[in-house]
Formats: sequence, C-alpha cells, structure tokens
Amino acid sequence: MKTIGLIGGMTWESSLEYYRIINEQVGKRLGGLHSAKCMMCSLDLHDVLELQEQGKWAELAPIIKDAAVTLENGGADLILICTNTIHKFYDEIQTNVNVPVLHIADAAGEVIKRKGLKKIGLLGTRFTMQEDFYKVRLKEKYDIDTVIPDEVDRQSIHKIIFDELAYSNIVKESKDKLTLIIKDLVSKGAEGIILGCTELPMIIKQEDIVIPVFDTLKIHAEAAVEEALE
Ligand code: GLU
Repeated sequence: MKTIGLIGGMTWESSLEYYRIINEQVGKRLGGLHSAKCMMCSLDLHDVLELQEQGKWAELAPIIKDAAVTLENGGADLILICTNTIHKFYDEIQTNVNVPVLHIADAAGEVIKRKGLKKIGLLGTRFTMQEDFYKVRLKEKYDIDTVIPDEVDRQSIHKIIFDELAYSNIVKESKDKLTLIIKDLVSKGAEGIILGCTELPMIIKQEDIVIPVFDTLKIHAEAAVEEALE
C-alpha cells in the first residue's frame, strides 16, 4: 500500500472527512483491521484565507509547496490538496515534488465522464466558480461543459462557505438558497452538480436534489485510495 500525503486544514472539518473516508475505503477493500497509510500536513486556515481573500496567491503558493515537500520528505507516495480552491496553482505545486499530486477536478472529471454527462453545474468558492483553473481543465481533459451561478448567487455561496460552513454552522435558509441556485442551474442545462468546495457536502446531499451530485471531497479521497492500492 502506498502512503497518502494530505495537505489539510482547509477546513479541518473537511480534512477529518478525508481521513475518515480514506481509512474506511482501505478497510473495505483490504478487510479486517486494515487502515490507510497516510500523513497529514495541516495548515492554519486563518493564514491561508487571509492571503486567499486578498488575492496574494504568490505569497500563498510557497506555503502549500512547503507542505507538499514536507509530505514527500516524510515518505508520501502521492499527495492530495484537500480543498478545491488551492488547485488554482496546482501546476506550481506538482512541479515542486516528484510524487503525483492528484488533481481534485481530474478525480471529479473521471467520475462525471464515466456517467456520460456533458454539462455540469459547478458550485464552490467564487475563485473556483469564476476563474478558469477548474472549468477549463474539465473541458480540455474531459470535454465537460460547466454552468455557474450568476454573480449575486456566487457571492451568496462564497459567503455561506466562509461565514457558516467553515464554522460548521448549517443554516436552513442557506440550504434553501443553495437548492434554488441548483434549480436555476438545472434550468440552464446542468445534468449534474459538482460540489466543488469541500465544505458543501455538509449542507447539500444527494437526497436534496434529483440530478446526480458529485461530492469532490469523497471522489478525491476515493481516487487516492484507488491509487494507493494499485
Ligand atoms: N475548502 C474549500 C474548497 O474546497 C474552500 C475553503 C477554503 O478556502 O479553505 O475550495
């Protein structure tokens, strides 16, 4: 079994979920008391968000790169960045280490493609929804088109993520709001919804909507187990 390195803390609650799923899957696949060989380098979210919100990506990148190097030096055979947004500078991180960094959008793209869906609604932080790093990758590598909420709805989702979900606060009105936003994306042709933020699965579940939901946290964690047991 390969050792999985996790860059976590963004948020720590979602990292906990990564850890749980990875261990649960290894146990299921290998049976008995098998559990995952893994290690986590967990960052202080306050520091990450301060730079992220101010768009100081050049200052944030070395922090993530250092975490990746720490994991590689510690013996990780593959690395996961346990958040979607930071994949904005994925290439920089991957080129800095010799082990594979599993891209979260690739993991999602593979699953969506296998389901044969061509147009997908993308929810996430405003960076993930409106910048190119996620959407272009899905298009170029998997021929999947994305549809995103309008500007006002993007701001609402970003606020729900950072003012509520990051504090593990699940607000009924926000769930209703997200459900309406998803309905709007469906009316614009979305055949499925990517939960492109690792906190969104706290509030949106498959049973809440009729079209397929792609939980990137779960898909990413499962892809890592697949790779670790290959
Ligand atoms: N974890 C979120 C994501 O998947 C965003 C929260 C954060 O920036 O830490 O993009």
